[in-house]
Order: sequence, then structure tokens, then C-alpha cells
Amino acid sequence: MNQLKETIENSRKIVIKIGSNVLSDKNGAVNKKVMHNIVEQVNDLIGMGKQVILVSSGAGICGVGAINKWSRRGDINYKQALCAIGQVELMMAYKEYFADYGIHVAQILLTRDDFKDHHRTLNIRNAMFTLIDEGVVPVINENDSVSVDEIKIGDNDTLAALTANLWNADLLIVLSDIDGVFDKDPKANENAELIELVENAEQLERTIDIGEKSSFGTGGIATKIEAAAKVNKYGIPMLLLNGSKQDIIRAGLSGEGKGTLFLGEICK
Ligand code: GLU
Repeated sequence: MNQLKETIENSRKIVIKIGSNVLSDKNGAVNKKVMHNIVEQVNDLIGMGKQVILVSSGAGICGVGAINKWSRRGDINYKQALCAIGQVELMMAYKEYFADYGIHVAQILLTRDDFKDHHRTLNIRNAMFTLIDEGVVPVINENDSVSVDEIKIGDNDTLAALTANLWNADLLIVLSDIDGVFDKDPKANENAELIELVENAEQLERTIDIGEKSSFGTGGIATKIEAAAKVNKYGIPMLLLNGSKQDIIRAGLSGEGKGTLFLGEICK
């Protein structure tokens, strides 16, 4: 049996991380078609009896789309301002698309400190469990407008991994704009081959050329492999899929989709 298909099928509690690259078109504006398609697939998963938490980037790009300026400002206060504007747009889009299926969404904005403080993590867990028990889809992002460099988590791959561990998820799906992890940087090597199964994320990180960071996302492939190592340690598999491809989760479920499945030793 196809391991990727089997992993999605057997997972009840799924965290799905959606990267800025997936949500943005080539000009850096929000690609609503892609976003809508992801919401459709989340609705499919919920219809199958699964529970889903989204960790969504995109506040920055939505901010640029909404206000049409400051996209090249590097100063942290402008980045924070863009995220503060864009987070509203992002949630409005999720709210609208999920409403088509009668599903409510809830916004949870977190910072690194929230995961370090015992009381805060307990409160986040309680809120998350309540929302999910009541059939609401939590949409998590970093609280970018209060997170300056010193205190921020920095990338949503890590935030998604922390969320999956906190919720004790069965699976973390990371949707990025690449098909998975390759043995060489696929942008520079035509003969790069997709690695479909990884049993030791930490070892992989040491052995492959992870290439350049992409333009709109924060993390690049390195933070994805680190995220896999973080969740695998708790027995949670991670699946890296190309979220820019239409119906990629559905393809995984039908046995046709390809990606990289990080199935750490203790996830089996
Ligand atoms: N929190 C940032 C945003 O919503 C993105 C972080 C990331 O892409 O990893 O724009």
C-alpha cells in the first residue's frame, strides 16, 4: 500500500501549514484560487471525520495586496504594519471560503514566549481543543506585529511543528511551492530526484544540498527538515507537499500524489 496515502488516511488530527509561497502569485499578491482549493480539500478531510488546524502564513503578502505599497520596505516596523493589515485580509478570505461549507474559523496569534510559558501553553491548548471539539477550524499565525527579531519564532514551519506537538497531532502536512525534498537543489540540477521517504530528518539535513531560500517564504527547505525532526521526535509524521498544485491532498488520498514523507523511526 502507498505509504503517503496510508498516512493521510490513518491520521485523525491533522495540522496543515500553508506557506506564503503557496498563497502568493508570481507578483506577490494573494492567489485566491489556490487558497480556495486548499479550503475545499480541508472540507473534504473534515467530511472524512478528521480534525484540522491550519497554520497559515500570508499576512505579509495580504498586507501588500491590500495597501499596495511598502512591499520593499525592509524596516521591521513596516513589516509589522503590513502583517497587521494583511492578517485581517487573510482571515476575511478564510472566513468567506469556509462559510461556503458552514464552517467557522478562529484566529490564534502566537509568539515564541507562548510556547515557553506553562500557563500560556495550557491556555492555548484549552482554546484549541474547545474550538476543534465544536467543529471550528483554528487558523494560527505568528503574532507578527508584536514579534520583533529577538522574540519571534521567525518562520511558520517551526510554528506548525510546535503546534502539532502541543496538540499531539497525528500528522503535520506542510504545503510549500516545491514537490518535496530532492537529493540536490532542483532549481540548479535537472537530474535532482525527489526523496519520497525520510526516516531520519536530522541525518538528511546533514547530507543534502538544501539550496537557496525562496523569495516569499521565510524558512526555505532547511526549516522544513527541522520541523520534521521536531515532530518526528514526538512520533508525529510530516508530509511535505506542493500546495501550489491543484488538489494535492486529494491526489495524496487517491494514491497518485507525490511528496516527501518524513516517517521518523518512532512514527511507524
Ligand atoms: N507570519 C508571516 C506571515 O504571515 C510568515 C512567516 C513565514 O512565512 O514563515 O506573513
